[in-house]
This record gives sequence, structure tokens and C-alpha cells, in this order.
Amino acid sequence: MVSTVPNSYSVDVSRIRPEIQELQTQLVEWRRSLHQRPELAFREQLTSEFVSQKLHEWGIKHQTGIAKTGIVAIIEGTKENLETIQNPQSKIQNRQVLAIRADMDALPIQEENDVPYRSQHDGLMHACGHDGHIAIALGTAYYLAQHRHDFAGTVKVIFQPAEEGVGGAKPMVAAGVLQNPDVDAIIGLHLWNNLPLGTVGVRSGALMAAVERFGCTIMGKGGHGAIPHQTVDSVVVSSQIVNALQTIVARNIDPIESAVVTVGELHAGTAHNVIADSARMTGTVRYFNPAFAGYFEKRMDQLIAGICQSHGASYQLEYWSLYPPVINDARIAELVRSVASDVVETPIGIVPECQTMAGEDMSFFLQAVPGCYFFVGSANPAKDLAYPHHHPRFDFDEIALGMGVEIFVRCVEKFFS
Ligand SMILES: [Zn+2]
Ligand SMILES: [Zn+2]
Repeated sequence: MVSTVPNSYSVDVSRIRPEIQELQTQLVEWRRSLHQRPELAFREQLTSEFVSQKLHEWGIKHQTGIAKTGIVAIIEGTKENLETIQNPQSKIQNRQVLAIRADMDALPIQEENDVPYRSQHDGLMHACGHDGHIAIALGTAYYLAQHRHDFAGTVKVIFQPAEEGVGGAKPMVAAGVLQNPDVDAIIGLHLWNNLPLGTVGVRSGALMAAVERFGCTIMGKGGHGAIPHQTVDSVVVSSQIVNALQTIVARNIDPIESAVVTVGELHAGTAHNVIADSARMTGTVRYFNPAFAGYFEKRMDQLIAGICQSHGASYQLEYWSLYPPVINDARIAELVRSVASDVVETPIGIVPECQTMAGEDMSFFLQAVPGCYFFVGSANPAKDLAYPHHHPRFDFDEIALGMGVEIFVRCVEKFFS
């Protein structure tokens, strides 16, 4: 594996303003408290109550129960920008709205970390870092509510349920969280163990891939393993299909583009001397270019139909387009890049080569309004905090929490300036 990203990088915490440094103990406390009681998609009841309780304590207006457990908080800045000073009438109409998004769900994974704050719910774990995202969003909301005089606009902080697979962003958008007041731009971050602490992965355009899923059942005709001519062998047919599906990326897609077709499951047969009646495969498709929407399903159907027909088998293909690709707006990505450059050592701390074929339902927000999703490096091999996301030993360097708050706050200040 070849990587241009440094293995570790030092963090200059003096770039985090003293008031956010002082928040660090609380950020860690909130994150650890959430880590101990992980909840699955759309069941983030305790998590949602925790968030609402804090917002309430700090006097921040918010609405709960959106798309089941989602929350939207509103923080109005009181600073006057140049335009409203020159023309006080424009104050209301020209008020810009920036949204900040955090996801709240955990995963059905048994935690293997031996830490005092390990998950207290058997079989459930915050193994993606969403506990950290909630802490960062809360810290940002707290800081902004204390410093309303420092920004001239409205900030919406969106806590969404169910990022992992099910998709809570789409119902949040459908519930109108980007309206009333209308959101002009949105930002969001993922703590990222694929990058070392002290780096920020940010880029314009495609950051993360579209996520599609398929399942296919091949129906042949079973029989005796020694008498194949009386059968239609679903194992042979499905083997050809697995190979043929690889040609979509290799032969149909422009090599300059990126895409993946993975068959993750293939099940058939019951005994070594029996020709299997049917076979079942499932898999995932990923790509960056939104123009490919619908293409893979069509092409896959053509290939499977052709192979089945040539062998006298039949098939049933199921296909789901789950998340569109995460596409960042050039202007907002530049805003994030410029403020992040002041927080990490540049140029090495800014990593534009951070694209991944993983998916994220932040894409639904980014389809609706321009914005930028970015990665805050959180791995620290020196502290044994470098396990990948969704691993039973996933954990991250909590210094990244304060960095996340500092970057969000700077984005807010700069966006409205
Ligand atoms: Zn995840
Ligand atoms: Zn995640």
C-alpha cells in the first residue's frame, strides 16, 4: 500500500484559542459519557435527551423529535456586518444561515477496548466516532452561544440520527431542517483515523462515494454431481456472473473515473456431490461521478441476463441506491481549507488526497445546499489509537475534539464576515 500521508504529525494546541482549550475537559467528558451508552440508528433516545438537556442548560433554542430522534438548534449571532451597518433595513433579509451537521448513531459491534469509558451496552459500540461528532457539535454550540457578538448571522446545529446504513439525513431534509430559516450553506466533519492527528482532509468536489447495494438469486436446476448434463449448474453460472461484473469497472467505465463493484457474499450448495439448484450473491457498488446514477444497475442486469440466458438459468436482481456521492462546493471547501490551515501545520497538515470509496449520508444535505464535508485526522499510533473505523478496538485521539470545535467556530466567524 502506497500513501502520501504522513504517519503521524505533531499538533500545536496553541492554535486552538484558550477558551476552546478550556472546553477540552468537558468535550472529553461528554464524548466518554456518550461512548458508554451507544444507541443504534433511529433509537438514539438517551443520546438525544443528553443533547437536548445540554442545549436547554445553555439557553439554546432547539427542536427535538425530528425524524424520530433528530435535533435542530438555532444560535443567532448579534454582530453587525458591514452591509447591515451601512443599510440597517437589510438586516433581516440579508441574514445568512450556516448549518453544522453531526450524526449520533452507534454500531452493532462488541467493543474490545479496555478503557474506563468502554461501552456499557453489550453488542453496541460507538465504533465510528459519532460520539466525538456530538461532543464537537455541542462544544461549538456552547461556544457560539457565549460569543453571539462575534458572528453576524444564524447558525443551525443539526444532530441527525442514523448515519450508518439506514440514512437519517434524508428524512431530516424532508422534515424541512434546511428551511425556516433557509440554510445558505452546510458544513460537517468526520473524525478520521485514516489520517493522523494534526491533519485535516479537505477537498473541493467528490470526497466520498455513492453507495448502492444489490442482491441476486440465480435459479438453475439441481441434480447429481456426476450427471451435470441433466442440470443447470447455478454455481458455474454465478461464477461467470461474478467475473463478468468486474468488467463493468474494467471495460465500461472511463479509466479516469473511479468505481468499485464488490460481490461480498456468494452462497450455494449443500453437499460436495450435489449440483446446486440456486445461488445467491450480494454486493456493493461505489462511484464518485453522479452521472453514473442508474448505470450500474442497468449494466449489471444486462450481463446477468445474458449469462443466465446462455445457460438456461433464470435470475432475480434487487438493487438499491442508498446514498449519493458526497460532493463539496468549491467556495465552502475553500473556506474550510483556509480556516483549517490556521489550525494545523501547513502545507503538510492539509490533505486534499483524502477521497474514500466509503459513503456518508451527508450527501443528502449537500444535494440540497452547497457545503463541505471534511475529515479531522484523529489517529495517533503512538497512543495505540489507530484502529480503523468500525473495528471493535476503534478509538481516537481526543485532542481532535478541540481541533474540530476550533475549525467549526472559525468557519462560522469567516462565513459571516
Ligand atoms: Zn461508520
Ligand atoms: Zn461515521
